[in-house]
Amino acid sequence: MNRIYLSSPHMGGNEEVYVKEAFDTNWIAPLGPNVDAFEAQLEEHLGNDRYVAALSSGTAALHLALILSGVGAGDEVVCQSMTFSASANPIVYLGATPIFVDSEASTWNICPDLLEEAIVSRINKGKKPKAIVAVHLYGMPYKVEAIQAVARKYEIPIIEDSAEALGSSYKDEPCGTFGDFSILSFNGNKIITTSGGGALVTKSDSLKQRAVFLSTQARDQAIHYEHSQIGYNYRLSNICAGIGRGQMEVLSQRVTQRRLNHAFYKTLFSAQDAISVFEEPGAEYFSNHWLSCVLFAPKLVVLKEQIRLDLAADQIESRPLWKPMHLQPVFREAPRYGGAVSEDLFNRGLCLPSGSNLTDLDRERISKIIRQYL
Ligand SMILES: *Cc1c(COP(=O)(O)O)cnc(C)c1O
Repeated sequence: MNRIYLSSPHMGGNEEVYVKEAFDTNWIAPLGPNVDAFEAQLEEHLGNDRYVAALSSGTAALHLALILSGVGAGDEVVCQSMTFSASANPIVYLGATPIFVDSEASTWNICPDLLEEAIVSRINKGKKPKAIVAVHLYGMPYKVEAIQAVARKYEIPIIEDSAEALGSSYKDEPCGTFGDFSILSFNGNKIITTSGGGALVTKSDSLKQRAVFLSTQARDQAIHYEHSQIGYNYRLSNICAGIGRGQMEVLSQRVTQRRLNHAFYKTLFSAQDAISVFEEPGAEYFSNHWLSCVLFAPKLVVLKEQIRLDLAADQIESRPLWKPMHLQPVFREAPRYGGAVSEDLFNRGLCLPSGSNLTDLDRERISKIIRQYL
């Protein structure tokens, strides 16, 4: 019996062609034609005059977005609590403090009201936050307009963590275009992958060039190696970008396939009032459904764990939702606003296999196990 993963890489076919091109021309470096072409594909996908710097990871992109937002030691940065730790870690790399804010129940993302409460509270304590990290969790867009309104009111830049949301959109505009800076991830478990990689999305070419400069060791113009700033080794390699080129050719197929998985789970759980599939709260929202998730009624949390174990016994991976950052031991000292909504989601939610490469046979295996409980 093959193992069914939550989300595994799914090649389109042309990736090897571009990787071979890199070998044939000896562009085995963190620059080259695949990097340029991959960035151009991403820029075309995003539109809206956005510029893309391809980097070694989404985490690196967040780190550079914070630097370009002027975040430094002693600063505070507001961050969605319900997320993967990579949204918050780079804040700490810079010696700044994350201020965690709870989610609202409709998108599972940062709550605009609590965001404003947190900002006002931090200002009253003497420090205006330097940036807001907002996340489109599981591919579901956050409340774009409400979050932008708060950010504008207090003149704080938004860093849009779109690591899970390439191919999602809000009011027909793609995720990755809603922040002052946006980041993407091409890690192995994401909707498309470069094996490892990420990108920073900026609103100007000069900001992109700043990101490229910082990501290639901040080397000044000179014959020798001259440095007037601290740099990073964060550029994507031309080999990985070759994989990205092939993956961008099939992105829209991957979105369709993930959304079909979601439709399959909707049907599977359709007769169950006590188990609900996470879905868009309105027609403005379009999720890539990177992962399909279900919420169990409070009285069924024991059943949730039972189903997880039964799936695991049949080599099928499922996983609890992201554990909120304000509950993580490493962040226990960080200030936080609210918390009950994300804690409740964490207690009651489960992510189900969502790969674009799931077969009908895989879905049958999954439904056979789950149906025993319905
Ligand atoms: C995957 C992910 C990241 C980090 O991306 P990497 O490319 O793995 O560094 C950041 N934020 C979220 C929400 C993610 O899911």
